[in-house]
Amino acid sequence: MERFIPDEDRLKSVEDNYKKIKSRIEESAIKAGRNPNDVRLMAVTKTVESVYINKALELGADLIGENRVQEYLGKKDELNLDGVEKHLIGHLQTNKVKQIVGEVDMIESVDSIRLAREISRVSMNKGITTNILVEVNVGKEESKSGIYLEGLDELLLEIAEMPNIKINGLMTIPPICDSEKEVSRYFETMHNAFVDIREKKLSNINMDILSMGMSGDFESAVANGSNIVRVGSAIFGARKYF
Ligand SMILES: *Cc1c(COP(=O)(O)O)cnc(C)c1O
Repeated sequence: MERFIPDEDRLKSVEDNYKKIKSRIEESAIKAGRNPNDVRLMAVTKTVESVYINKALELGADLIGENRVQEYLGKKDELNLDGVEKHLIGHLQTNKVKQIVGEVDMIESVDSIRLAREISRVSMNKGITTNILVEVNVGKEESKSGIYLEGLDELLLEIAEMPNIKINGLMTIPPICDSEKEVSRYFETMHNAFVDIREKKLSNINMDILSMGMSGDFESAVANGSNIVRVGSAIFGARKYF
């Protein structure tokens, strides 16, 4: 088997990028009058080879996000994951639920009753409780997964009744926008929805996590109350798809 040789320049740039992103998050939190410790940085590791992911982990990354079940299961044994939280952030098909439940600490991409029901069923069979976020399609884009805000309360209430599945908050990917002002409005809409639901104090519905903001817009997300920003390419470089 051919041995994989890590690129030293890329390792160095992961280090520089990671530190820069950390300090930009801190600055935007302070600017927004927030405690920087309230915003977690998730390193999004899809398509990234394990050596570069391990570099980020070595620098202190304590939360990673993967999109695809197969990819994550294929590389997790090469990662130094002691004390690291793992989230699934990509669209999850019902037929993959069995493979991923118990392998990650949270599934951020729950957007239907059918999917939630399957997570609940599999979790019960495995004797565990699975933590989830509900993914919201805030821009009502047909090409994206996620529930529209109009259907959110109903979905939350249904999931809250299911055994072995625990709602922790919301996740979103806003539409691609031309200006920071425009994207900021989507984040604000999400934050308002998040706060409204939290204030209702519904049983079995925890609203602790608002996961939003990616490489191009995380500062605006932090300004609008995000507490997990999911950053991939700004840490690891542009993605190559194989
Ligand atoms: C890929 C991905 C990210 C990270 O995107 P970047 O623009 O590379 O930071 C964040 N969230 C989800 C759900 C993703 O699929």
